[in-house]
Amino acid sequence: MRIQSNLGSTIAMAFDECVANPSTHDYSKASCERTTRWLRRCKAEMDRLNSLPDTINKNQLLFGINQGCVYEDLRIEHMKEIAEMNLDGYAIGGLAVGEPKEIMYEMISAVEPHMPKDKIRYLMGVGTPGNIIEGVSRGVDLFDCVMPSRNARHGHLFTMNGIININNAKYMNDLDPIDTECHCPTCQRHSKAYIRHLFKAKEMLAMRLCVTHNLYFYNTLMEKIRDSLDNGTFEEFKAKYVDLLDTRI
Ligand SMILES: [Zn+2]
Repeated sequence: MRIQSNLGSTIAMAFDECVANPSTHDYSKASCERTTRWLRRCKAEMDRLNSLPDTINKNQLLFGINQGCVYEDLRIEHMKEIAEMNLDGYAIGGLAVGEPKEIMYEMISAVEPHMPKDKIRYLMGVGTPGNIIEGVSRGVDLFDCVMPSRNARHGHLFTMNGIININNAKYMNDLDPIDTECHCPTCQRHSKAYIRHLFKAKEMLAMRLCVTHNLYFYNTLMEKIRDSLDNGTFEEFKAKYVDLLDTRI
């Protein structure tokens, strides 16, 4: 908590135990109890730090993290417990650690009714564009993931038509941008053929251009989701894109 306070970040995350999957019900139960005890200590420490005169961000927000492995009863019990602590936001942790995505969606659906309606909901470490759309449809507001940048460094690029691998030979002479609809700096200036050439030549610029595109894609995806929610067209958006965006083309 002291390190996070010194960073002065907008949000600080409480310390939690993210159990391995699979873990037994007994271990996961004891782990949830430990995570709750840690959360209480984190909250007390944040209150103390925010009362000090030289704290960088006295308005730092504290988010608690829901755990419980893939056990619905533990997830719900833990969520109810931390919901009573009047935190600034609530995260669902310990998912997207190798379990089938259907299990992840089940867990989100199970805990969501027990999350405070007026607090931010954050799904940790998720995910593919399809995972994000499914998360939003279950009431999640916030995500974080290495996927856009890590995949970009391997030439896996997200587009509104699906996922492409820029290393494929078919892009050798393709003078179109990664995504003709994309307004990112990479797509404004460079062709798939050029970016593929940079990868083959092991030029660092290849990774930089691709990371730029994928981050831009994720930001735009969230923008499109927000717009569709505002316009009341989210269900149509979901039906059109939830599988498409995760499909390799
Ligand atoms: Zn782009």
